[in-house]
Amino acid sequence: MKKLPDIKSSFSQLIATPSISALEAELDTSNLAVIELLHNWFADLGMQCQSVPVANTRNKHNLVASFGQGQGGLLLAGHTDTVPFDEGRWSQDPFSLVEKNNRWYGLGCCDMKGFFALTLEALKELPMEKFRRPLHILASADEETTMNGAKAFAAAKSIAPDYAIIGEPTSLKPVYMHKGHFTQGIRVTGRSGHSSDPAKGLNAIEVMHLVTGQLLKLKQHLAENYREDAFSVPYPTMNFGHIHGGDAANRICGCCDLHIDLRPIPGLALDDLELMVANYLEPICSQYPGCIQVAPLYPGSEPFADKKEGSWTQLVAKLSDSQPEVVNYATEAPYISQLGCQTLVLGPGSIEQAHQPDEFLDISYINQTKDLLKKLIYHACIK
Ligand SMILES: [Zn+2]
Repeated sequence: MKKLPDIKSSFSQLIATPSISALEAELDTSNLAVIELLHNWFADLGMQCQSVPVANTRNKHNLVASFGQGQGGLLLAGHTDTVPFDEGRWSQDPFSLVEKNNRWYGLGCCDMKGFFALTLEALKELPMEKFRRPLHILASADEETTMNGAKAFAAAKSIAPDYAIIGEPTSLKPVYMHKGHFTQGIRVTGRSGHSSDPAKGLNAIEVMHLVTGQLLKLKQHLAENYREDAFSVPYPTMNFGHIHGGDAANRICGCCDLHIDLRPIPGLALDDLELMVANYLEPICSQYPGCIQVAPLYPGSEPFADKKEGSWTQLVAKLSDSQPEVVNYATEAPYISQLGCQTLVLGPGSIEQAHQPDEFLDISYINQTKDLLKKLIYHACIK
């Protein structure tokens, strides 16, 4: 076996290799250099590594590394990309690992390139020749924007693990459920004209008034008919976040835009939600043909739920000495679980540090995570 980097070196190399995802082309960076680092390390451990281009991305790849034959086993999944960083709000270079106050600082330390370095550490200390079931590692692309990496991996169904762990920062607590996220932009196009004669135009703000009325009915329907008590806000929410229309008091408003955000609970798929919005707006669309356009503002993400009482949830809760939890951010879990595996989100660091200037990982997580990963891999692949 070739000499693998020590933990600080692998961490540093991952942090020093930019892999920013952004919907804006000028900020978006290919993740290929990170994929190459991981490919080399996991191949040096004797794993079969495959780098797969992901459609509908700007030159991004998924890496799948596998060890052992047959069905079942464990998938450890994470994303290779980071969010962009706020120029001027970091007190150090985001691309160099800095140790300070018992913390490692750098973009991606916590969310979540560090997870791969820790997986590597765990594997160095495990007797891989004793694996009876396979271990797979997925390093995905574009989690922070479209989740196209995880979606493509799930659709390909190239592996069928029994269990999956997604190493997002959960303070090493097992997360078995989260809401989804969905946005809609609604544009009413009317006809502008002089305000002195309302009949000369079609006032988009007045039509938007009808739209918001229908949406409030849908909001109430969602709150009254869907419930998951595990969440602190136990129903699907709808938020009116932005509205703009018209230009002057003496002109009939010709165009009005509304942006809303919806957070479905598990059991309410994004397609269903999109259809509900369309159904509630249908009477207004019929009354004003061609005037109302509805489209997502950003790619949505599905809600996710595994079983709190499931064998994997209970085992991981026991090994991590934590109760299973629910969270209010979205992950790749709903896509990974499409492989048919019992799926949990669990990783080092706190979500509080994710997407923040001076992102860090507390050093106390290094050994804790390595030890927990060793136990998880042992139970899934060796025992
Ligand atoms: Zn993340």
